Amino acid sequence: MQHFILLLSYLIGSISFIIGLKMLSHPDTARKGNLYAAVGMTIAILATIFLYTDENGNHLGNYLWIFGGLIIGTVVGTMIAKKVQMTAMPQMVSLFNGMGGACAAIISIVEFRHFIHKQENPSTNLIEDAMNAIAGVLHPHATATHANDKLILLTILLGLVIGTVSFFGSMIAFGKLNGNINDKTLAGQQVINIGLLLIVIVLIVAILTGFIGISITALFWTLFVIAALYGILFVMPIGGADMPVVISLLNSFTGVAAAFGGFLYSNPVMLTGGILVGSAGTILTMLMCKAMNRSLTNVIVGAFGGNAAASGISADAGGAFKEISLSDSAVLMAYSKKVVIVPGYGLAVAQAQHICHELEKLLEEKGVEVCYAIHPVAGRMPGHMNVLLAEADVPYEKLKEMEEINPEFAQTDVVLILGANDVVNPAAKTDPASPIYGMPILEVENASHVIVNKRSMKPGYAGIENMLFFQPKTSMLFGDAKKVLQDLVSELKSM
Ligand code: NDP
Repeated sequence: MQHFILLLSYLIGSISFIIGLKMLSHPDTARKGNLYAAVGMTIAILATIFLYTDENGNHLGNYLWIFGGLIIGTVVGTMIAKKVQMTAMPQMVSLFNGMGGACAAIISIVEFRHFIHKQENPSTNLIEDAMNAIAGVLHPHATATHANDKLILLTILLGLVIGTVSFFGSMIAFGKLNGNINDKTLAGQQVINIGLLLIVIVLIVAILTGFIGISITALFWTLFVIAALYGILFVMPIGGADMPVVISLLNSFTGVAAAFGGFLYSNPVMLTGGILVGSAGTILTMLMCKAMNRSLTNVIVGAFGGNAAASGISADAGGAFKEISLSDSAVLMAYSKKVVIVPGYGLAVAQAQHICHELEKLLEEKGVEVCYAIHPVAGRMPGHMNVLLAEADVPYEKLKEMEEINPEFAQTDVVLILGANDVVNPAAKTDPASPIYGMPILEVENASHVIVNKRSMKPGYAGIENMLFFQPKTSMLFGDAKKVLQDLVSELKSM
C-alpha cells in the first residue's frame, strides 16, 4: 500500500511538471504553472522522505540532515528570488542551474563510492553503508549486484561529467554576467577544448574496460577534474550577449544529468523532471539561436557581444542626429492614428513598465491605437519584456511578436523606442560586416516617425553603432526611460 502511494505521488509529481511546463508558455498562466510544478515537486520529495523503503523495509531516516538542507535551501532560495532584479535574472538562473549540476555530480560521486564498495565487498549489505546518509534517497537498485553493472557505472560517469560541466560552466557564466569575470580566449582554445573532450571519452572507456591498468578511483577523480576544466574553458571565451544561450544550454545539461540520477535510482519523477528540463533547455537554446539567426557553433566560438565600452565607438561615429522635445513627442503621438512601443533593456533597467502602461492608456483615451513590438531577445533573456509588461498589467493581446508586427510598421505613424538598441539596428540587414548581421530585427525604420529614448549615444549590448539614430525620420529623446515617460504622461495629461 505504502509503495502504491509512493508511486502515485511520483505520478502526480510527473503530471504536475508537464502541466506546469505547458502553463509556463503563456504569461497569463505562468505563475500558476510554476506553482503547480512546485507543489508536485513538494509531494514527490515528501513522499520519498516518508514513504520510501529499501528492500529490508527501512525508511530513509537522516531527518535532521534532510530537513536541515531543505530549510536552508528554501530560505536562501526564497530570499535570492525575492531580491533579484529582473535585469539580473540570467545570473540567478545560472546560479540555480549550477546548483542542479552540482547535485547531479554529487549523486554520481556518492554512487561511485557505493559501486566500488560493492565490488570490493560483494556480500556486504550496502543499505547500511554510511554513504546512505549522504545520498539521502539511495535506491537499492543503484548498488544491487546486477549483470548491468557496466551500464550503472556508465550512467554514474555520464552524470558526473555532465553535472560537473554544468556546475563549473554555470559558475563562470554567473561571474561573467555579474561583471566579475571578463571574456578570455586562450590561444588554441578550441583545440584545447576538443582535446579535453577526447580525454573525457578515453577516461570513461578506461574506467569501463580497465584497459589503462590504473585504479578506477584515480581515473574517476581525474575525470572529475577534466570535466571541471572543460566546463570552465567552454564558457570562458563566449561573448557576453550570448550568455543567455549558454545558460539555456547548461540548463539542458543539468536536466540530462538529473535524468541519469533518476535512472540510477529507478526514480520515475526524477527521470521525468530531468528529461523535461533537458528537452525544454534544448528547445529554448535552439529558439534563441534562431532569434539571432546564428548556429550554436557560432554562438560557442563566435564571442559576440561583451563590453560595449571597449568597442571604441565614438558618440558621433554615425554623423548628425536630431533631438525632439518632450512636448513635441507628446503632440506627435497624441495626434497619431497608430503608435508602436518598442521596449528594450533600458526600460527594464529604469523599471519604467508601469509608467509606460499609463502612457499607453492615455494615448488610447485620445483615440490612438497602441501596441508593443516584442523582439525575441529584447532585454537580457527571451521573454524578459513579456514578463516585465505583464507585471505592469499590460494586456497580453497588446504584445506583438516580431513576425506579426514587422509588416505593420509601414502603417505606423510613430514608433517609440524605450531603451532598446540592438534589436532595432538596421545593420543586421544591411551590413554584412556587422557582428549582428543576419539577426532578425524589428523593422522600425518603415514607420513614418521614430522616437528613440535612451540616455546617450552609447551603443547597446553588442557594442556596435546603430545607424537608425542618424536617419532623417529618427529623433532622439534623451533621458532615463522612467523620467522621460513620467514627463510624457504629464504633457499628455495637460493637452
Ligand atoms: P541593448 O542592450 O542593445 O540596448 C539597451 C539600450 O538601453 C542601451 O543602448 C542604453 O543606452 C539604453 N538604456 C540603458 N539604461 C537606460 C535607461 N535607464 N533609460 C533609457 N535607456 C537606457 O538592448 P536591446 O533590448 O535592444 O537588445 C538586447 C541585447 O541583448 C541584444 O544584443 C541581444 O542580442 C542581447 N540578448 C541576447 C540574448 C541571447 O539569447 N543571446 C538574450 C537576450 C538579449 P544608453 O546607455 O545610452 O542609455
